Amino acid sequence: MLAHDTPLKRCTKCGRELPATTDFFRRSSGGLHGVQARCIDCTRAHNREYQRRYNAEHPETNAEWRERNHNKVLEKGRRYHAKHRESINARRRARSQADPSSPRASRDLWNEQNPEKVAAYLMVRKAVNRGELIKHPCEVCGGEKAEAHHDDYSRPLDVRWLCRAHHVAHHMKEADRG
Ligand SMILES: [Zn+2]
Ligand SMILES: [Zn+2]
Ligand SMILES: [Zn+2]
Repeated sequence: MLAHDTPLKRCTKCGRELPATTDFFRRSSGGLHGVQARCIDCTRAHNREYQRRYNAEHPETNAEWRERNHNKVLEKGRRYHAKHRESINARRRARSQADPSSPRASRDLWNEQNPEKVAAYLMVRKAVNRGELIKHPCEVCGGEKAEAHHDDYSRPLDVRWLCRAHHVAHHMKEADRG
């Protein structure tokens, strides 16, 4: 809500008369009414143009800039996911319930019943992505496409690498024994 006595200020760039508030102008202690001479739209356009010209003149730093922004985009995605985790999970549950025989539904059920195992898998995946944990070939046959196997899920980064076939075989042996 604007107070009826909010002063108007004319942007020196686009000439629009706008309320002299931080909704329309960036704060500036030296400026008239404590805001900058140019409106936010004009400042943004100016910054964009500056960035475009800078990138054109500095193609070598452009790649770094893109890299940094790419990370920012990823970071944003992660934050979005954290913030909306509940609704994302709710949607997933709804889909599973709609078709309880789907592979997704059985996986979701398994995930819900095995939170410790899920957490361990996620930690392994993160550590591998970060380069803190190196993937090895299958310790039985040397197959390249190995999966992390946990002897003890409470030590999530203490894993052995087994290909799909040997991983399944190992768990079957465990089940026989247990
Ligand atoms: Zn303007
Ligand atoms: Zn193997
Ligand atoms: Zn396993």
